[in-house]
Amino acid sequence: MMLPTRLDNPQGLPARVARKALRLAAHIGAFAAALALVVQPAAAQQKRPNIIRDVEIETLLRDYMRPIWAAAGLGQQNIRVVLIADPSFNAFVMDGKRIFVNTGALMQSETPNEIIGVLAHETGHIAGGHLARMRQQMESAQTIAIAAMLLAIGGVAATAGSNNVGGNPAGLIAGPQEMIRRSLLAYQRGEEQSADRAAVSYLTATKQSPRGMVKTFERFQNDQIFISQRVDPYVLSHPMARERIAALEDLAAKSPYLNVKDPPALQARHDMMRAKLVGFTERGDTIARRYPLSDNSLPARYARAISTYRFGNVQEGVRQIDALIAEQPGNPYFYELKGQALLEAGRARDATAPLRKASELTGGNPLIRTMLGQSLVESGDKASTDEAIRELNFGLQRDSSSSSSWRYLATAYGQKGDIPNADLASAQSAFYGGDYKLARELAGRARQKFPLGSPGWLKADDIVNFKPPNMPVRSQ
Ligand SMILES: [Zn+2]
Repeated sequence: MMLPTRLDNPQGLPARVARKALRLAAHIGAFAAALALVVQPAAAQQKRPNIIRDVEIETLLRDYMRPIWAAAGLGQQNIRVVLIADPSFNAFVMDGKRIFVNTGALMQSETPNEIIGVLAHETGHIAGGHLARMRQQMESAQTIAIAAMLLAIGGVAATAGSNNVGGNPAGLIAGPQEMIRRSLLAYQRGEEQSADRAAVSYLTATKQSPRGMVKTFERFQNDQIFISQRVDPYVLSHPMARERIAALEDLAAKSPYLNVKDPPALQARHDMMRAKLVGFTERGDTIARRYPLSDNSLPARYARAISTYRFGNVQEGVRQIDALIAEQPGNPYFYELKGQALLEAGRARDATAPLRKASELTGGNPLIRTMLGQSLVESGDKASTDEAIRELNFGLQRDSSSSSSWRYLATAYGQKGDIPNADLASAQSAFYGGDYKLARELAGRARQKFPLGSPGWLKADDIVNFKPPNMPVRSQ
């Protein structure tokens, strides 16, 4: 698990709107990053929503959803499930390409079926074409507030009752929430029911039970929820009207697959995912309570190994990870974890071998190759510089938005004495980190060093000429 990425435009909103929403969220002081797996300090990003990239979880969610997307006629659409580091329950779509899901929703779902059902419902929104209208709504000032709420409330709920930072988030919610509730109810009621029906049809087509979806939605059915401070954002985006749940229950009762259970292998992977998320995001005592020493299951040992290294005992953590590897020598994610633990402990040279193995076992997954590239840079071994550049570029070709990867690439070029490319990579790093002024400066410097019209010159020139979108400064 690695590389929390700043969420520049989380929902495909028009950039201006998203930025305003993000500003507001940051203003509220929500979204303290829940991640303990920050490879580099990211102080400036602490109050922004963070995307988690994790190969094991992304692969599992893709395996969950592939049959559902095929049943929805979206098999060719290349949809991605994007993980947001947030302990509250949420899942939403705002474009046709990405379904966002909070880590909280994954941690709270006991079975694959529960999360598959929720994501099948989101798929129903995509297939039903509910998004174009939603985007129109997003243009209005009112929905800017909604977007901000959806983004912000998770973090607020997590801090409500404790010492809040940045003012009075609870007060800020109380005002607009009735307005938001009415607005959402008005324009979403029909679409929610249609997404429910679609979801049940996808589950039926794939011979899966609708029970998990019903169970999850029933949990959120609570008219009192809007006068509570602890509101899960999912409830705001998905009003759980009594009639809606009743209609869904009727529909589900008719499913011939109501009592079908998830395949044991899928449940096992689900349990590992939850253990990993708990291990990486919860406090030490919470992890110990949830996975006590008396629990010798693989997920429990996974969570404890992560917790052990995270909270400073790297030696013992690595020993526990080695025991996991001994038990499942073909599991790439144990090697990845070992590499990450060593990398974060400043032992980059030791991290390289397990990361190479993880890369090999995943057929060269770009995220793992990126981490391998980082470890090669950090190990400072001149002989590995070309390999480091190759690995980092491989990852960046697939996802160019990782500011930290660009920074590592800049270091690698620097180690090689390739100053134009080092400057260009530094400019990219600043650019994707949102510091356009610094990016322009660095790109200007790089541009002078490349031959006129060369690929490097063109890339630098693009950054120099980039016009950052206007950011209205007024907050509400
Ligand atoms: Zn919905």
